[in-house]
Amino acid sequence: MIRNEQYHQFLRQCGLKVTSTRLLVLDVLMSSSTALSHGDILGKTRGSRLDKVTLYRTLDTFIRHGIVHKVASEDRNWLYALHPIDRNNSVVRGDHAHFICDHCERIYCLPLQTRNSMPAPESEEGFIVRAHEFRLHGICPQCH
Ligand SMILES: [Zn+2]
Ligand SMILES: [Zn+2]
Repeated sequence: MIRNEQYHQFLRQCGLKVTSTRLLVLDVLMSSSTALSHGDILGKTRGSRLDKVTLYRTLDTFIRHGIVHKVASEDRNWLYALHPIDRNNSVVRGDHAHFICDHCERIYCLPLQTRNSMPAPESEEGFIVRAHEFRLHGICPQCH
């Protein structure tokens, strides 16, 4: 399977050993256009032997290796997503915009680099900014 080979290659490029669990979780994330909760991912892997703890561990590993990032949902759960890919097929690392659909509440990562479009946060005295997030609200393509 070509896709499987690409996943193998991708994991190795990220400095990770290839395991069936990592391949499975990567496949779920790659197949989704929106950020997924731990429970969503577990639901999509039903039938496999993936358990809660292993999934948390796998997601942590992916985060540490810069494959996955977390985004808070509107009801304050953590969602997990791969980094968005822009029109030139390159991965947008770091800050990017999140689109929240007001209808289905799904969250999409948009490949919009936001760092340069925001006012310099250093101008606010005493605040040390470690990350910032740009959230857009509206109706997603699946809901209109
Ligand atoms: Zn929607
Ligand atoms: Zn994102």
